[in-house]
Amino acid sequence: FKSKLPRVEQSIFSVMSSMANKHGAVNLSQGFPNFPVDKQLISLVSNAMKQGNNQYAPMAGDARLREVISHKIEKLYSRKFNPESEITITAGATQAIFTAISAVIREGDEVILFTPAYDCYEPAVQLMGGVAKKIQLKAPEYKPNWDEVKATITSKTKMTIINTPHNPSGVIFSESDMLQLQTIAEDYNLIVLSDEVYEHIIFDDLKHQSAARFSLLSQRTFITASFGKTFHTTGWKMGYCVAPEKLMKEFQKVHQYNVFCVNHPFQKALAIYLENENNYLRLPSFYQNKRDFFLKKIEGSKFKVIPSQGTYFQLLDFSEISKESDIQFAERLTKENKIATIPTSVFNKNKEDFKQIRVCFAKTEETLLKATAILNSI
Ligand code: PMP
Ligand code: GLN
Repeated sequence: FKSKLPRVEQSIFSVMSSMANKHGAVNLSQGFPNFPVDKQLISLVSNAMKQGNNQYAPMAGDARLREVISHKIEKLYSRKFNPESEITITAGATQAIFTAISAVIREGDEVILFTPAYDCYEPAVQLMGGVAKKIQLKAPEYKPNWDEVKATITSKTKMTIINTPHNPSGVIFSESDMLQLQTIAEDYNLIVLSDEVYEHIIFDDLKHQSAARFSLLSQRTFITASFGKTFHTTGWKMGYCVAPEKLMKEFQKVHQYNVFCVNHPFQKALAIYLENENNYLRLPSFYQNKRDFFLKKIEGSKFKVIPSQGTYFQLLDFSEISKESDIQFAERLTKENKIATIPTSVFNKNKEDFKQIRVCFAKTEETLLKATAILNSI
């Protein structure tokens, strides 16, 4: 028996979270909030269960939820997606990403990824027999070089995957980036996968440049989103995918045999909760306050801060503290200083060592105070 993914190891998120638990460390590694979910949302879920929504949902998802999503996208990004044929509710963004890749990538197809890249893209490409072509975003700006993208494209290039706001750097793509992407995708007939799970977590009055805003781009893009990030419910594994009908049709062919449909009562609850736009429009200031609180508290530390424009992550450069690799440094911090973070080299092309660790600031003030006291002592 030969492994289909010989180079894949246990995800860094599992590794660091279990190391944090083992050593009793403050866990700023895996990205998840440690504050409670809105009580209203919890009661909407339990009501949905009590009301009997405990059997299969429609394959593409609850009709009302798809309508509310369509409405939200139209309001925010001025683009109408048909809730009947262009939206599917998924088990988190992870399943949406996997399904989109499976639906269109064949043996030998090349897929352009920007590294550091979130860890679930490449294995999905490889499982389909595709080849990931990686373009390294350079610290500290982490901005794409579109000439390099053009130079990487061959006759086999089928797709490019982008992620804005970007995990782990917190950098966002500008309007000009998206316009250049649109031109390239048109010129070379590429499908785009735009991972926008942090669309509502964006700071300093910057604007999220969803692929939905761009007319031609939106005609060739799968957009993936996550309720886990938006409503502090990563454990529910609920998300969705939006794509033009011709792509969504192929997506659903895979979806219906991969999972068929996802959790019904949660969809009922999310449909009602998402109708109140305040439930997501409050996120930028909520998380900006957390980011700024965190940054203020580590002002005196030896870490160099790489500015985060979105997501609930912050990169910290430790080159003035240690010559260790980021993996050694993060391990030592977990075991000796009792703080767990994510080494970022694991997301990079050729695993380059960037001397940067990622921290998650989606934490209570109490946790952030504990964490920043430790970081200041390093
Ligand atoms: N994409 C990115 C960039 C992420 O950070 C995450 C989760 N942290 C996901 C996708 C997966 O989202 P979900 O938990 O909804 O599967
Ligand atoms: N997306 C989360 C992060 O970046 C982790 C999700 C997971 O554990 N797979 O930390």
